[in-house]
Amino acid sequence: MSSRSIPFGKPLLGDEERDAVARVLEGTMLVHGELTKAFEKAFAERAGSRHAIALSSCTAALHLSLRACDIGAGDAVIVPAMTHVATAHSAEYCGARPLFVDVAPESGNLDAAAAVHTADKAGNVRAILPVHYLGLPCDMDALGAIAARLGAMIVEDCALAIDATYGDRKAGTLGDTGCFSFYPVKHMTSIEGGMLTTDDDELAARVKKLRAFGYDRSLGERSEPGVYDIDALGLNFRMNEVEAAVGLAQFCKLDDFQAARTRNFEAMATELREIDELTIFEPKQGKAQSSHYCLNVVLPADGRIVRRDVVAYLKGVGVGSSVHYPVALPLSRYYRDKYGYKPGEFPIAEWLAAQTISLPVGPHLEAGDPEYIAEEMKKAVLTARR
Ligand SMILES: *Cc1c(COP(=O)(O)O)cnc(C)c1O
Repeated sequence: MSSRSIPFGKPLLGDEERDAVARVLEGTMLVHGELTKAFEKAFAERAGSRHAIALSSCTAALHLSLRACDIGAGDAVIVPAMTHVATAHSAEYCGARPLFVDVAPESGNLDAAAAVHTADKAGNVRAILPVHYLGLPCDMDALGAIAARLGAMIVEDCALAIDATYGDRKAGTLGDTGCFSFYPVKHMTSIEGGMLTTDDDELAARVKKLRAFGYDRSLGERSEPGVYDIDALGLNFRMNEVEAAVGLAQFCKLDDFQAARTRNFEAMATELREIDELTIFEPKQGKAQSSHYCLNVVLPADGRIVRRDVVAYLKGVGVGSSVHYPVALPLSRYYRDKYGYKPGEFPIAEWLAAQTISLPVGPHLEAGDPEYIAEEMKKAVLTARR
């Protein structure tokens, strides 16, 4: 028996993060500080965007993207049926209606042809929210053309797509805004946190106002302390200095983290591609290059291999896994009850919800772990075959 114990995800925090947090706590600038600004600057440079705005989460970034463009009641927003709940909830927060569209069987990404069909039928689509599923950019040429024809904005959900590329551009610069997450088990963490990227100066100014109550001038712009007016229904979605300190320290390690993810992914994929029963979404498809959030293997749709059995086997040999995502979002209780979606309407999303397994590739893996995980995954399928 092996004594390995490999969690699906684990933030790698060290002395750099601890020291940075300690320095913040020694001072008095806990919000509105220089670390948040430095993090924004560094992130914008890496992403290749004019602006990067630090927020309390990726969910806040998605929400503010729509709100800053006055998307609300009577408007519809195209959302993939296979995604994190935050993508669709961001439309609901604004009073807009999420219109779910099935995903493509080779990538799990928004199906552009299906999106056209849904948008033309609805007639009131004001935004498209492509989610770069597990790090692989969507077909942004096709989605960009649809958005242009509809006069809709594009909000990229880049929560798992830091450093993913499409042609010579990075995810987050392919639409009107890009929304990133620093939740603990993403590519890097700021504990909780998010970043909104955009090249649009006016949109950036509106997002900055909305992240801080709707004040008409920021703290630095106030000539008399405490004197300001409020001209928008803003929220409190700021990132604080402790989070920015952790985020910056992690940001310095991101090159190493990403290299480890790529290495681990390739070591495992080489082994697992040999198994006929498994579908593996290729990390390079056309112009899109994945950021390798995990390696998801999808079991056959006919159910001849039962996911629960495979996951239990893996757990028994010390391999942690996850599921992205366990329910096709329109069939979750909230959306089903509200809009009456029925099983069978989103066949690919439903297949993924039932049969995908996410295997770890993060920088927390130790030497030999990728080979071990691939070997055990093979055994799990062989066992299930019988
Ligand atoms: C994690 C995640 C989110 C939400 O990010 P938070 O920072 O936790 O709000 C949104 N979309 C996707 C695709 C995610 O993976």
